[in-house]
Amino acid sequence: MAIMDCVGRAGVPDAGGDDLLLLRKAMRTALIVGNWKMHKLIAEAVAFTADVLPRLSGTRAEIALAPAFTALGPLVQAVGGAGVAIYAQNMHEAPFGPFTGEVSAPMLVELGVAGVILGHSERRRLFGETDRALRQKVPAALRAGLQPILCVGQSDRSGGGHELRQQLQEDLAGVDEEQLADVVIAYEPLWAIGTGTAATCAQAQEASAFVRALVAERSPAAAERIRILYGGCVTPAASGELLAQPDVDGALVADASLDPVSFAAIVAAA
Ligand code: PEP
Repeated sequence: MAIMDCVGRAGVPDAGGDDLLLLRKAMRTALIVGNWKMHKLIAEAVAFTADVLPRLSGTRAEIALAPAFTALGPLVQAVGGAGVAIYAQNMHEAPFGPFTGEVSAPMLVELGVAGVILGHSERRRLFGETDRALRQKVPAALRAGLQPILCVGQSDRSGGGHELRQQLQEDLAGVDEEQLADVVIAYEPLWAIGTGTAATCAQAQEASAFVRALVAERSPAAAERIRILYGGCVTPAASGELLAQPDVDGALVADASLDPVSFAAIVAAA
């Protein structure tokens, strides 16, 4: 079953043709985010930025790097004012409290961090991240002034629309309609992450349109403005066609973001 079969025609906004879709896309600033996961010591992270910054000139895209917690402060210092935002890979929903080993949104803001990846499939699968916690985390990030990137994705290659619907409904339940468009959603099919098998551009477009349609069920205005990224094996070679899709507003990139040349090539394609 294709993803769109799960939304029902009523949920799909009246696109009004490809030209209108592309016009709406042009109103949204592309965002390319490198998720470094648990890679790079501080010196390696700083050396990466020295290498990559000169390669990023001339882009109109927003760029963010999400290093490990230890490199957040040093990278904020290293890229300050250079057009690259520094994001965290997770945070706790409470501002402070007895939560050993956790880091809160105000702590990230204090460091100069600008955003946070929430609900990555590795956190859901390996560390027990729940939709219930995400329902708190997404508004907590917004309250603190962080840009949340909410990751959603289905495990079923041939469908899984119900999984996406459930994740979006639950994870965004604490966000007011007026703030819905301030969330970035990263669509990451689980079968594509780190596997060497990316979704096709058509699949990424179909799923992104589906996600937009689900947002439209709550707010058609927010659906036009909200940015939807694709993640899962994005490479420089495929990124031009991928990022040209009308509902794909950028990419969340892991493996290919660890190398400054390939990360800069993906940014250049946006
Ligand atoms: C990810 O883990 O979010 C991801 C997109 O991984 P990769 O780019 O390595 O497939």
